[in-house]
Formats: sequence, structure tokens, C-alpha cells
Amino acid sequence: METGRCYACKREFSFDPGEVVTFLVDPETGLPPGFTALGSFRPATPEAVGRSADLPVCPDCVERAKRFQPGS
Ligand SMILES: [Zn+2]
Repeated sequence: METGRCYACKREFSFDPGEVVTFLVDPETGLPPGFTALGSFRPATPEAVGRSADLPVCPDCVERAKRFQPGS
């Protein structure tokens, strides 16, 4: 098990690195590559993807996110 900080709620939690849900985040914007601060979409540049890191998301936030995803 590893301990990390949830990307969404900043809570520290323990997780199995093989099981945890991660979120690709561009450190320059704090958002996934392709998202803008205005909430609009643009194609993710290779640079943005290259500097982005996979950050763990806690199970509570995964559940919350699922409820906002239509068709799941
Ligand atoms: Zn969380």
C-alpha cells in the first residue's frame, strides 16, 4: 500500500498502486490536459500531456465523479 493525497479533495489516503484510479493532470493548469480554466475543451498538446502526471483519486471522489458521468 502507498499513501498519497487525493487530487480532488486533497485528503490523504492509502491505496494499492495497482488498483487506484488516477487522474492525468497538467501541473501548469491543475486540470487534465485539454481542459482550460474556463471549462472549455481544446486538443491536448503533446507538451501538455508530456508534463502531466497521474495523480491518485480517493474512492469517495471516484464515486462522486461517476454520478456525474452520463451513461455509466
Ligand atoms: Zn478525494
